[in-house]
Amino acid sequence: MAFRQIAILLLLASLFPLTGYSWGFFAHQRINRLAVYTLPPEMVGFYKKHIRYITENAVNPDRRRYAVAGEAPRHYIDLDVYGDSALYKMPRYWQQAVEKYGEDTLMAHGIIPWHINRMKFQLTQAFKDRNVDQILRLSADLGHYIADASVPLHTTRNYNGQLSGQRGIHAFWESRLPEMLSDNYDFFVGQARYIEQPQLKAWDIVASAHLALDSVLGFEQELTLEFDEEKKYSYEVRGNLTTRVYSREFSEAYHRRLNGQVERQMRLAIHSVASYWFTAWVDAGQPDLRQFASTLSAEEQERLRMELKEYEQGPHLPREEGESHLHQNTWIPGRRE
Ligand SMILES: [Zn+2]
Repeated sequence: MAFRQIAILLLLASLFPLTGYSWGFFAHQRINRLAVYTLPPEMVGFYKKHIRYITENAVNPDRRRYAVAGEAPRHYIDLDVYGDSALYKMPRYWQQAVEKYGEDTLMAHGIIPWHINRMKFQLTQAFKDRNVDQILRLSADLGHYIADASVPLHTTRNYNGQLSGQRGIHAFWESRLPEMLSDNYDFFVGQARYIEQPQLKAWDIVASAHLALDSVLGFEQELTLEFDEEKKYSYEVRGNLTTRVYSREFSEAYHRRLNGQVERQMRLAIHSVASYWFTAWVDAGQPDLRQFASTLSAEEQERLRMELKEYEQGPHLPREEGESHLHQNTWIPGRRE
């Protein structure tokens, strides 16, 4: 490759370094979609009828981040801010957590486990109200937050490896690896199960993610020592953008070392999403979903159109399904999902 071309690539790479997002469009949509198939017979018909909605809207909470104040902290929790054994010491319930740390502190470092529980309550209420608009919206959103909670890098302030010289590891783990390799994952996760303690279960999900964090960061560091810089990365051209990505060779080596971790966390997410939906429905008294309206209201359709429009016109690059790579690797300072 000519020196000039390399220089241009390096320049572009520095303009668009690797960055971090939540699971990426691909994995979020796949998790919500697959969750539908694990529902019991009384629920699966309704969710299958709306599977396109549940799938396509799996990423709405990320889109809303720019329009809705207070949205950002719902996607993560920086556990390490609270000390080494925070995972075990943090108050499980919101009220106790507020008493101990104050709401401002909690909002500053992320509230994902409490937000999952809150969404579950709202979904239960929506089932009681037989409000199809709300049931679908909350189901899709809840799926998103649960999926985020199962990502190790959503449980640390070093969420993109920016504190350990590993910038870009976020999108690597949760977008590039599943996009490249998840066709070989086993997504048969068994039936959705009733969750006795939804708030504690949210913490179990966060715990499983957080306990995997050392491997996520450590294995990348180990492998980096074994790979030459030019073998670690490759460049992809999409449209008129060139982005630096982890090479296939490095990705596969990392994936082998993680020994199924991404697959395990995706499976956990799928099963948990379905189990929360199921639990909300049971807690609402198991309403007969066959009698529910089969389409969204005109108001809700309009709201969705507006939300999408606002997102597309917002102060950021749009990310569309099929182009996710291109945009997921485009770093926007201060942005976090
Ligand atoms: Zn997110």
